[in-house]
Amino acid sequence: MADPHRAAPLVPLPPVLAAMVRDGRLAHSLNIEGEPGLGRKTLAVNLAAAVLCTGPADVPCGECVPCRKTLAGVHPDVTVVDGLADPEAYKMKPLRETLSAAWLQPSEGKAKVFVLADMQKMERDAQNILLKIIEEPPENTCFILTCDNRHRLLPTILSRVVTVPLRPLGREEYLRRLSALVPGRSPDEYGETWRLTGGSPGQGAQILTDPAAAARWQEAKKAVAALARGDAYGAIAAITPYEKNRAEYAAFLETASALAANRALWAELGLTPALSAALGLHLRDIVRRSGENAYLPLTSALFGGWHGLHRE
Ligand SMILES: [Zn+2]
Repeated sequence: MADPHRAAPLVPLPPVLAAMVRDGRLAHSLNIEGEPGLGRKTLAVNLAAAVLCTGPADVPCGECVPCRKTLAGVHPDVTVVDGLADPEAYKMKPLRETLSAAWLQPSEGKAKVFVLADMQKMERDAQNILLKIIEEPPENTCFILTCDNRHRLLPTILSRVVTVPLRPLGREEYLRRLSALVPGRSPDEYGETWRLTGGSPGQGAQILTDPAAAARWQEAKKAVAALARGDAYGAIAAITPYEKNRAEYAAFLETASALAANRALWAELGLTPALSAALGLHLRDIVRRSGENAYLPLTSALFGGWHGLHRE
């Protein structure tokens, strides 16, 4: 049955990747890196389709049987795991089971392809299981990872993958893609999401179509501005409603760190380059710790570290 988490629309590959596939020079392990909403997983699934494509010219052609099955999420030789949608799948036991399929022969394609999306959600121990496989990959296998930041992968994995960075889109291309995703909004609405997301149409579409996401971006903006001016109460007020639910809390912190990194907002939020970098590190550290701990680590962690930074 088609699974929306495993499916993707057809998109063109960046020319460098297309040429690598066409010439048979594609590395067996790749890592697509970029901010959320830039289409990392869509690109990864299209790359999987390109690897298996039997069309005569551009890959993926989108029309041959392997392309259609891969893009529909039903190709038996393509495994797509999404660490964001299905965090359990990145626990050691299920991951080991998933990856054990790498030693089987492809059932109908020329290779077996594993798409492991949002690798930043995979803990070290599980990453080590993956490392064992990509160190000496079985024949005819291809591993396509995605992540928000390459430094959240083990250095030993990083040294064995070819990392493909996805850059945020220019304004024009952003507006074109966003209006295709969410038609019929005003230029102001589109423009505001461009400023907020820094050029990520997937996130822009979320802001325009999901009121909870729109509220989270606004509240995260308040929290970052408050942290920038050392206003603990302001930040607590913004973050507290999100603390009760683990997933929402993580999403809030991710949003806050994206905002802190967005140069277009620095002046408005009262950030300097140094403050932005420090706050980004601090937020990422809390995201990491909240992933490791069984309980929510609380606003106090947020301020413990941050106040120390202010005192320096
Ligand atoms: Zn094809």
